[in-house]
Amino acid sequence: MKKIIFALLFLPALLLAQQTSNELIRVKDLIPDIVLDLKYNTVNNFTHQKLYTTNECYLLLDAVKKLKVVQDSLRNVTSLNGVSYPKGLSIKIWDGYRPRAVQYLMWDIMPDPSFVADPNSGSNHNRGGAVDLTLVDRATGKELKMPTGFDDFTPAASHSFNLLTPEVKANRAFLLNMMVNVGGFQMYDAEWWHYNVAGAGNYPLQDFQMK
Ligand SMILES: [Zn+2]
Repeated sequence: MKKIIFALLFLPALLLAQQTSNELIRVKDLIPDIVLDLKYNTVNNFTHQKLYTTNECYLLLDAVKKLKVVQDSLRNVTSLNGVSYPKGLSIKIWDGYRPRAVQYLMWDIMPDPSFVADPNSGSNHNRGGAVDLTLVDRATGKELKMPTGFDDFTPAASHSFNLLTPEVKANRAFLLNMMVNVGGFQMYDAEWWHYNVAGAGNYPLQDFQMK
């Protein structure tokens, strides 16, 4: 009897464990129309160095499935805050999975925890559980007006920064609402562009190179 009770108690936990996967998958495989602009595959980033060898973006399967739900909704948003987007909106990803070796390289260039996660503890990007993104107009590919560009390490990057035009404030709030309430992601207060998949910290740090 004791054994049966034990099994019943732990059954939900076992089922949950089976549903989560550490697998990283190519985002484009599930969301072909997503826009990728991996800044670390260019010199246009805070290190001024090209740290990736590809524009392929990988994330945890769970994160990609949730992003797909967001992207499916964005395609139908043809007007926002008085601006018309006849072909709808799309996600543009600036960074996703980041090999841990790259985290060490960044730390060598800027060993400051307010800018870069210490590679010894790792970043959720090293787990494939964090994504940096913005929104674009599907008709023109142009980014919507947001408070800052990517990796802007100033107070203006924070969700609590409000010296913004009504349009910019509304765009940031719309992205937040889509990611948190539609996609189930968690926001990061210091960076409006960064979102974590729920429980990201429980996934392992990884170090394979994207191809
Ligand atoms: Zn990030």
